[in-house]
Amino acid sequence: MYDKSAYYSDELMEFLNRSVVNFYAVDTVRHRLELEGFVRLDPRDAWTLEKGGRYYMTKNDSAIFAFVVGESDASEGYRIISAHSDSPGFRVKPNAEMVCDGGVVKLNTEVYGGPILYTWFDRPLSLAGRVILRSNDPLNPTTRLVKFDRPLLTIPHLAIHFNRAVNDGNPLSRQKDMLPVIGKVKSAKDAKGLVTRLVADEIGVDPELILDYDLSLFDTTPASLEGMEGEFISSGRLDDLSMVHAAMTALLESDNMSATRVMAIFDNEETGSGTKQGAASPVLCNLLHRINASIGGSEEDYLRAIASSFMVSADNAHAIHPNYPEKQDPTNHPVVGGGPVIKINANCKYMTDADSAAVFRTICERAEVPYQYFVNHSDVAGGSTLGNILTSQIDLRGVDMGAGIWAMHSVRETASIDDHVYIIRAFTEFYNC
Ligand code: ZN
Repeated sequence: MYDKSAYYSDELMEFLNRSVVNFYAVDTVRHRLELEGFVRLDPRDAWTLEKGGRYYMTKNDSAIFAFVVGESDASEGYRIISAHSDSPGFRVKPNAEMVCDGGVVKLNTEVYGGPILYTWFDRPLSLAGRVILRSNDPLNPTTRLVKFDRPLLTIPHLAIHFNRAVNDGNPLSRQKDMLPVIGKVKSAKDAKGLVTRLVADEIGVDPELILDYDLSLFDTTPASLEGMEGEFISSGRLDDLSMVHAAMTALLESDNMSATRVMAIFDNEETGSGTKQGAASPVLCNLLHRINASIGGSEEDYLRAIASSFMVSADNAHAIHPNYPEKQDPTNHPVVGGGPVIKINANCKYMTDADSAAVFRTICERAEVPYQYFVNHSDVAGGSTLGNILTSQIDLRGVDMGAGIWAMHSVRETASIDDHVYIIRAFTEFYNC
């Protein structure tokens, strides 16, 4: 392992433990950026940016865009790394409380994205998200974040004695099987508004002030190192918060003052990116326009800058699984710990082509890190990610890549610490190009 691996692995684990849902991932990034002197921009204000200045902007509290304004002219373009803040899981529905026999209360939830459902059973779960409070301005209510730092819920599995065939495959209903239990009440009327009262109590406000909330479940089990030498990391939300952490670290450790360095963390990748804070929205395109305009650039300068830009779309990949080698392509199967994975798809689900793969390969070579290629087994459909969605908004060159992980979309995924260090080095090299 490289020298800094202990430092980076501790930082990554702390980052994952704080970033329990999309809103907290953005808040954790925001907090770190502010410590490093990044200035918050409000999109409603007029911006006057300075060359060399460090800035950031959030969108919907669940996406964040940070950048350091380059000092040279438009021909240097933008160096962009994108990743996503969201992970598959469960969202609490409105009027969620359901009272069962004995006063046991369960919560009605809705599945977000594509989690591996049965990994969520019998875990110490809790709730986090944002709360919207009444203010004097109806168009601008107040937003607060809320996170219960204690196990609050569990989804109990049915005992094997009621389903002896459970280990032979057990189809699950999202509406029946997956509802979490939150506790017991004395009478049914005590359950009404229970979640609102809990939230109000936690953030110290009158329940009457709460207009609405976005609450998601998370596993309270912290990230841990595993393996004989601690070579693996096991944690929730590695997809895609390990890439968010790597991008943020590289932004802070790089020192290229010539080109504008941009980190774009979108929300809602797991549901197809089609929201105002997702990669299919104009949010990044608008931001790049504004950066250009506020340092006095013309539309021509903007288009020149875009033409000189490059984007690394960073989203985790599948490493070959020791129990299922047959799932992978016969000649391109990345391994855990083998370095960043360049993702390729003939039908263009990824933005990678020979040109952009060559660019990323060269960056890895300059950073002295290994690299590998991922192509789907031709009988397997595979996933998609941010890169191609962004190119429908911005005319960009770029590559899709990620770390090779196991158990993608499980409540706990496994990755390699070596890969994380390699990727931070490659990203830092990219920003410095
Ligand atoms: Zn992802």
